[in-house]
This record gives sequence, C-alpha cells and structure tokens, in this order.
Amino acid sequence: MLIAIHRIRDRSDTRLSNMTTLNSILCSVLLLNPFALHAQIGDSLLYQRFGMGLVHSSMIGEYHARPEDSAVIRALDSFLLEHVPDLWTRFEHHLDGPVRFEFFPSLNAAQHLCGWDTLTARSDDRTRLGCAHYIRKIQMVMPGTSIAGDSIYAAWGGFQKVMLHEYTHSMTYDIIGDEQIDRIPWWITEGLACLVAEQFHYGPSFRDLVQQRLDESSVPSVKDLHTDYLHVELLYGWSWLLCDFITTTYGWDRMLAIQSDFKHPRRILGRSYKALDREWLDHLRNKPAIHL
Ligand SMILES: [Zn+2]
Repeated sequence: MLIAIHRIRDRSDTRLSNMTTLNSILCSVLLLNPFALHAQIGDSLLYQRFGMGLVHSSMIGEYHARPEDSAVIRALDSFLLEHVPDLWTRFEHHLDGPVRFEFFPSLNAAQHLCGWDTLTARSDDRTRLGCAHYIRKIQMVMPGTSIAGDSIYAAWGGFQKVMLHEYTHSMTYDIIGDEQIDRIPWWITEGLACLVAEQFHYGPSFRDLVQQRLDESSVPSVKDLHTDYLHVELLYGWSWLLCDFITTTYGWDRMLAIQSDFKHPRRILGRSYKALDREWLDHLRNKPAIHL
C-alpha cells in the first residue's frame, strides 16, 4: 500500500497538488496505518490536506501551520523568544538558526508523523502530542484543535511549557550530535527537559507515589531509567527527580557534563551506578518536600 503511494507521488507531484480528493483518501490511509514509514509522505500530503504552510518565522523557529492558527503561533514565538535565551545561557549553548515547528490540526496526524520518524508509534498505545526527535524539527498537534490534545497539554503544564520542553530536546540533540540521539539515556533527555520547563512539582499524588516506592524498596535505579520500560508519566517523574537530585547534589555544571558525556557518568561524578543509586535513595528519603 505504501509503495503504491510512493509511486503515485513520484510520478506526478504537481498534478497531485490539485487532486484534493485523492489527497483525502491517501491521508486517510496514512492516518489509519501505523506502519507507515516516511514523514516525507506526511509532510507533502498532510500539508496539503490541512492547508498548512509557513505562517511565521523568527530567530527561534520557522512555524508551519494553518493560516488561521498564525495568531496563536505568534504568541508562542513571543513566549519562546522571551525564554529560550535563558535556556541558551543555562546550557552554555545555542542553536544556530531556527527550529522547524510543524503544527498539525489533528492529534492522529501529529502522532503518526511522530511514529513514522521515530518508529515508536507501533511499540505501544500511548497518546502523543507529537515529538521532537531531531535537532531542528518539532512536530506537534496544534493546541485548540483537539479536546484530547488540549487535555494532555494541560496535564503536562500547558502548551507553552510543553514547547519549552521540546525545544530543550533540540538543544540536547544539538549538543550530543545526530548519531547519539538514540543512545542518550531517557532520564537525561526527559529529566532535563521537565526540569528546565518546570513541568513537575512535588504534588500530593507524586509525593505519595515516591513514598510508596520508598516503603516498598522499589525506587527505580539509574540504569532502570536508561530506557522507557516504565509508564511514561512515571518515567518522566523519576527522571525529573533524578536530574533534580544530581543538580542539587553535584551542581548544574556536572549535570551538563553528564548530558554531553553521558557514557561516562562515573568519570564526571566519581561514583559507580550502585553508589549513585544509594545516594539517590538517601536523597529521596531525606528530601523534606516529599514528607510534607
Ligand atoms: Zn520529552
């Protein structure tokens, strides 16, 4: 099925632009098919399907969305312009040139584009808002176009914080390089993004969970958090806690050093993973906010 779509597109790119009915059919096939493999198909057909194009650009981003979404996009860009320079200072690094933002007015489109590019959509049944799996490309669902999407944005601290989180991923990937994107431990990527976007706090439910895991002696180890075997929210929460622990115990500079040289945490912290796990447990047991 997908090979056929490729061939149609290759033969008649220009003719295809006028074939809106065919586009609709193909888009439906693409959205229903979680095994589709290349975002170029989505970029082309979904852009036409949704009437998307470049609606705004700045030193931070080139924003692709529907023209009617441009006011929201401009407000987002203002937010990022205000906050990203602080990120550059904190990470002692800045991105040369803008990031390409793609805002799809459909949760399915954002999720499946993400899946094609990262090959993760087939692996579980999570609902995603989109993804940042590149140095310079972030694909998301446009806020205000999906009730499910908006409720997920709210659960993650709101649309602006989510964007700051995704932009932080682009920063991390730029620091470590393209070839390392699939190798950096999840807890570093996600924990740092949640930390700088301030998406977590010691709310009662999370505090209870940490306490319960402490009581059960089932707090995940650092190595447990290298990949995402936990439910996503827990993985992000534990990753945030771990980055917070390292930052408060060893300092932000060493957290940054671990990010850029993640294969050698022992060299940076002077601790084995086992010793680090013990320290982390002590930190969680003694962190006053958890025992409020
Ligand atoms: Zn993330």
